[in-house]
Amino acid sequence: MSDTMEIDGQQQQQQQGVDAAVPDGFNTDYLRIYYAKLFPYGDFFKWLSYGNDAKHPGCDQSYIGRRELSFTLENDIYLRFQSFDSAAELESSIKEKCPFKIDIGPVYSVDPAKRHAYAQSGNNVFVPVERELIFDIDISDYDDVRYCCSGADTCLDCWPLMTIVIKILDASLRGDFGFNHILWVYSGRRGVHCWVCDSRARKLTNEQRSAIADYFRVYKGGENSLKKVSLTGPVLHPFLARSYTDVLKSFFEDKLLHSQQLLASEERCQKILELIPDENVASEIHDRWQGNRRSSISKEDVNASRWEQLKTTLQSGKHKTQGLRRCVEEIVFSYTYPRLDMEVSKHMNHLLKAPFCIHPKTGRVCVPIDPNNCEDFDPSAVPTLSQLLGELNAAGMQMDSESDWERTSLEKSIRFFRTSFLQPMLKACKEELESAYSAKLQQSKNTLNW
Ligand SMILES: [Zn+2]
Repeated sequence: MSDTMEIDGQQQQQQQGVDAAVPDGFNTDYLRIYYAKLFPYGDFFKWLSYGNDAKHPGCDQSYIGRRELSFTLENDIYLRFQSFDSAAELESSIKEKCPFKIDIGPVYSVDPAKRHAYAQSGNNVFVPVERELIFDIDISDYDDVRYCCSGADTCLDCWPLMTIVIKILDASLRGDFGFNHILWVYSGRRGVHCWVCDSRARKLTNEQRSAIADYFRVYKGGENSLKKVSLTGPVLHPFLARSYTDVLKSFFEDKLLHSQQLLASEERCQKILELIPDENVASEIHDRWQGNRRSSISKEDVNASRWEQLKTTLQSGKHKTQGLRRCVEEIVFSYTYPRLDMEVSKHMNHLLKAPFCIHPKTGRVCVPIDPNNCEDFDPSAVPTLSQLLGELNAAGMQMDSESDWERTSLEKSIRFFRTSFLQPMLKACKEELESAYSAKLQQSKNTLNW
């Protein structure tokens, strides 16, 4: 008797499991449920308001309404220059239009939706005035140094190249530039985005943005130039020296060399030898590598032993003076150093995909990445749209739709966004706003005293 009941119970549970599952995919129906139940409108709006949505008399009430959002609808229909005065307005527009992609543009001098009216009034001052400092990194820019995947594909062997970008840039943006409010976001498929949100960063001119982008640039020459990295000058810049000793060297030697089998074939060996400017030295190294093909070194060790032989040759006293001093570092930089899309960072009016969008090709959410634990980030474990809808089904419909996300695996990402990024940033915004306001009051008081 009791046995039968148990079996019945199991069957019932299995039945529920089948009902809760949602087939993989990306479509308007799925997206509508996501926008109805899961997209974090409130947090998103608070972020882009930067404290100006409060009641404080120092707030700039026009601020959020001058921000451009751009929607890409189904069939690649672009709706640029959308603007919103309230979270409710934003929410109802997104729910109504159901954009496949949401991009964030700059804050303009006037409401971008009314730019034509301003132009007609002869008061043509439609220019971008504020924008987060942004970085866009795409793993397909690393196709010449990864052998596991190409194009938009990624796997756990090449994804660590993105982890390295986060480590290098995050440390420098904080340590060298003093920025504190930095948001890293998975692009949903092939890379990462960085948003530097300090007010000092948002007010940078295009010239200042270019100077910061150039600070990170070590790549010279174009697509066809063999030597992509040139580390010049008598000593390495402290930022590059730190990047090398703290991150790049060990990543290259302990991980990439083996995971990408960088010295396991003649073709791959040649590619590294081409980075050595002295042909005689390159052929000396090649001869030593030929020698160990006959030796008993296993396939596992060949990358490490060939790398050691290269280093010993290049760093021997004999070659130190021949302009080869930096060659080992240059090879490591060529294979590991962040490759940024510079144009995105240099101009205020570039659009960048918003966090918490869904990538149409992968169905994955563009979730924030914690820079302090970025090595644990696994893109293949990021929740997909169908997975989230399945979780909603399994949790059952509840009256309190405010907290639907708490019952899905999106919870971790929204909590991280809120507590690690949004709250500290809004606290800083409030302090700046209050001190600017009291300085203004003090000034007008002084003027009155005259
Ligand atoms: Zn890969």
